[in-house]
Amino acid sequence: MDTLVASKITHGMYVLTTIGGGCIVDAVAQVSGGDNPLIAVSVMKKNYTNELMHKENKFALSVLGKDVKADIIKTFGFNSGRDINKFKDIAVTDVGGVKVIDNALAHIVCEKVDAIENATHTLFLGKIIDGEINSDDEPMSYGYYQKHKDEVLKVTTSNGKTAWICKVCGYIYYGDELPKDYICPVCGVGADKFEKRS
Ligand code: FE
Repeated sequence: MDTLVASKITHGMYVLTTIGGGCIVDAVAQVSGGDNPLIAVSVMKKNYTNELMHKENKFALSVLGKDVKADIIKTFGFNSGRDINKFKDIAVTDVGGVKVIDNALAHIVCEKVDAIENATHTLFLGKIIDGEINSDDEPMSYGYYQKHKDEVLKVTTSNGKTAWICKVCGYIYYGDELPKDYICPVCGVGADKFEKRS
């Protein structure tokens, strides 16, 4: 199986936030509209944000555009809230207790209504209770991110550094050689899914 096949499903790139933390997610879908506007978001169980999402009853999605600041993806996607305060250097606004990203095209605030568990992920369902559109620019799709990761993340190989970029999530490893048994710390794929930039 080609592990990149899911990149052919059109979905976007978002910062999911809840009280105390957040992370980058791409598996987001609108479930229903009208009087019962539901959103589904899937979060890896190993993520600290998953733990927070179980505790809190409110969350927000900040919709990322193609001009998203690289630091936002690096901070929220390649780090754990167990180790750093992700909000420290990123411009955010508090909306009813949940922080949303200022450099986003829109934010959607939800009240959590359900959580469905599977082996690796939890699917959280939320009812939209608030939201604001900041820009009419086109949202960045996950497929676009896959194709333009170097540009979006501003991958630098200056100063003679060799960069290895994960083809699945965009995580960057700097070093002359990538260990053969290397496992992506973000998405868990092996060294064969990394591409060299030098
Ligand atoms: Fe990865």
